[in-house]
Amino acid sequence: MKTVIVGGGVVGLASAYELAAAGCEVTVLEAAKAGAGASHGNAAKIALAESNPVPAPGVLLQGIRWMLKPDSPLSIHPSIAPGYLKFLLKMAMHCNARDFDAGLDLHLRLGEDANDLFDEYQRQGIDFEMHDRGVLLAFETKERFDEHSASLAVFEAAGHIPERLHGDAVHEAEPALSDRINHGLFFPNDRQIEPDSLTRALVAKIRELGGVVREDVSVRRFVSSGDTVTAVVTDDAEVLSADAVVIAAGVPTGELTGKLGHRLPIYSGKGYSIDYTPAPIELKTSLTLEDARVAVTPLDGMLRLAGTMEFGSRDDRVNDVRVDAIRRSAREAFHSWGEPQGENAPWAGSRPMTPDGLPLIGALKSAKNAYVNSGHSMLGLSLAPASAKVLTDIMLGRQSRLGRDHLAQVSPNRF
Ligand SMILES: Cc1cc2nc3c(=O)[nH]c(=O)nc-3n(C[C@H](O)[C@H](O)[C@H](O)COP(=O)(O)OP(=O)(O)OC[C@H]3O[C@@H](n4cnc5c(N)ncnc54)[C@H](O)[C@@H]3O)c2cc1C
Repeated sequence: MKTVIVGGGVVGLASAYELAAAGCEVTVLEAAKAGAGASHGNAAKIALAESNPVPAPGVLLQGIRWMLKPDSPLSIHPSIAPGYLKFLLKMAMHCNARDFDAGLDLHLRLGEDANDLFDEYQRQGIDFEMHDRGVLLAFETKERFDEHSASLAVFEAAGHIPERLHGDAVHEAEPALSDRINHGLFFPNDRQIEPDSLTRALVAKIRELGGVVREDVSVRRFVSSGDTVTAVVTDDAEVLSADAVVIAAGVPTGELTGKLGHRLPIYSGKGYSIDYTPAPIELKTSLTLEDARVAVTPLDGMLRLAGTMEFGSRDDRVNDVRVDAIRRSAREAFHSWGEPQGENAPWAGSRPMTPDGLPLIGALKSAKNAYVNSGHSMLGLSLAPASAKVLTDIMLGRQSRLGRDHLAQVSPNRF
């Protein structure tokens, strides 16, 4: 099957790899550079311990309260664009305990063998930087710790059992922490992957399997015959014929599916990261500073800070006030942070967000050979290999690793 994959982020590349490994003839068309979208500067975590869907009880209200706080970790871009307002309204309807638990259950099911899948990638010769330092969720107050712990039963039922740490035990787990941090949840199985090394290795593997990855080629529209897509057309008016098309274009996925008669509600959730080379402090583990919602990830020869969720941003410009808030959180959380040298230019990227916080994996109802793999929000790096397998099973008519209810939860046709 001749398959064109639109988008060379981690999700499009994982999909192309899985399809090529299953014998399909794959061509990835990437508008910029492979792996340079949201997949480039993310927090680098296989974040099993942080599988919570974004729409949680109280989240949008908190975002609205923080709209006038320029350095808040969560914000909502004010706009009266009808599609965006509809997206926010739909998200508000999912900010309840029942949908949150159902979404968390789906993420945990989808991600249950994430570590095994990455190990399998390495066995297949996909060579990337991976660490198994676990993650310490670090809290300043017992109140925040208790609030977060409310969802632990669901994690524990799925086998993610954290160590609960208080007082000195937190500082033993991570000696670099300042006295400001007094409580922690340590999840030993979470891993870290340097995302550029993964996307680079996937490109190499796809090519080794005979697939094609083309950069600086943007897909503008599709050619259809009845309800079947027959070709994609690029910005340069090049026409590439296809038996099947996979749209894995991150935030622009919705606009592209709109050209096939079904515009999916995907909006941006902008975030930032700052790299320090070399790392300014030695860390035993990777962390999330929960009060500031900032991830701190040690990688080879560097350390990455990442955070902030700005709903509905229309560009990837860096907001200095929010980046300063990320720097401040590190200064306050680590006793020897000081004024570190080696800071790289801050990066901004757009997470593909959906109203219910869950990915979109499967066939589009408006065109019988068009598929979507997108909307992974905060978890695209973690869930890319599993999502690629789910998609490939659907495309090839194989038994799915997900049950019927979970497949319905990720179906693009739920919107
Ligand atoms: C600050 C931050 C921290 C994060 N931390 C984590 C984390 O620790 N763990 C985790 O699992 N996830 C994390 N994420 C989320 C994760 O990065 C995303 O979910 C993931 O990168 C999405 O991958 P993608 O391939 O769907 O999208 P992208 O990486 O955005 O790729 C989409 C690609 O499609 C291309 N494209 C768009 N339109 C077209 C077109 N018309 N034609 C051709 N190509 C097109 C784009 O150029 C882009 O390269 C984080 C995100 C951010 C912003």
